[in-house]
Amino acid sequence: MATINLENIKKIYPNGYEAVHDISLSIAEGEFMVLVGPSGCGKTTLLRMVAGLEDISHGSLKIGEKVVNEVSPKDRDIAMVFQNYALYPHMTVAENIGFALKLKKLPKEEIGNKVRAAAELLGLTEWLDRKPRELSGGQRQRVAMGRAIVREPSVLLMDEPLSNLDAKLRVKMRSEVLKIQRQLGVATMYVTHDQTEAMTMGDRVAVLNSGNLLQCDTPQNLYDYPIDQFVASFIGSPAINLYQAELTQGAKGLILAGELIDLPDSVLVSHPILESYASKQITVGIRPEDLSLADELETNAVGAVVEIVEALGSELIVHFTIKANSITVEGAIEEAETIMESKGAGVARIEPRAIVKAGDNVRLKPNSTAFHFFDSVTGIAIY
Ligand code: ATP
Repeated sequence: MATINLENIKKIYPNGYEAVHDISLSIAEGEFMVLVGPSGCGKTTLLRMVAGLEDISHGSLKIGEKVVNEVSPKDRDIAMVFQNYALYPHMTVAENIGFALKLKKLPKEEIGNKVRAAAELLGLTEWLDRKPRELSGGQRQRVAMGRAIVREPSVLLMDEPLSNLDAKLRVKMRSEVLKIQRQLGVATMYVTHDQTEAMTMGDRVAVLNSGNLLQCDTPQNLYDYPIDQFVASFIGSPAINLYQAELTQGAKGLILAGELIDLPDSVLVSHPILESYASKQITVGIRPEDLSLADELETNAVGAVVEIVEALGSELIVHFTIKANSITVEGAIEEAETIMESKGAGVARIEPRAIVKAGDNVRLKPNSTAFHFFDSVTGIAIY
């Protein structure tokens, strides 16, 4: 078992393109670290540098106490599972799993024992004599895992290992991969572009964008305390609703689509910097579960038109567009169209038996204690 330490790691490809900028990250023994981000953000490049499949342009990579920048992949004591499994088609499951041990010239009996133990852990015992083409996608994925773990590596690296599976199997394999990783207790780096996979699997999740590490934290902390608008939007499904709004004088309220939403004192206590944005434009983020349907005359709510309702059984996903209203903070009648800079589209998750349908005019009440605030210019969160 070992830790993984990345210190100011950079990747500049031979064509001069800098795909990873100055990333520092530590993965503890036994920790499951997920790297997540949109396509092209540099997560595979980072993983391949740890694996030794790409040179590190700057910075230092340690596995355990040893700097391994110049150590060849086979001497790094790592195992990697790829998206396409990379199984040998002419070999049986047992031969695939045992191949690395055969290369190491381990005695036949020892190979057999280790292969059987790995197969048992992965539920592959009855398929050991089959060829990869005779297996389902999920079974093939398990063979790829088997091949990685049989060598008892100190570090496990996985690059989108579940992305070739259908949706249902992918969900099932998430917990299987986690279970195996827990049993091995090995430091793991896992790349995915799927935020749900990241949130459900990671002890911690590192969010990358454009070659930068934006934030690395537990799934719950990322959700509750995103560092900026990008992380707030990337984490959570359906995505957070973001609107332009104006803070009132003294930051006691927010004008959203021309309506005044009071901010309880607790908001200023938990977001002390908010006060410096009084009377200014900010971006407010409202998670879909922090909106509920309100009565027609209810204050602290905004008017909206329902566009689509998705009934999921456990909840309704209501897609809406906020209407510009005409009530300003002083109660004067004014044209509020200019205040509502965002076009007001949004999503609410509400109780499953609410009576609501497309075309309805509704009022939506946000839970103002759960607002997220962002600087409208920089997108950085205001706490
Ligand atoms: P995806 O989820 O699509 O696989 P990713 O986050 O894993 O994306 P990388 O594959 O790490 O992204 O690529 C990061 C950036 O580096 C991309 O802009 C890519 O075009 C660029 N890149 C990757 N390989 C090379 C290369 N050999 N030479 C030059 N640029 C490269």
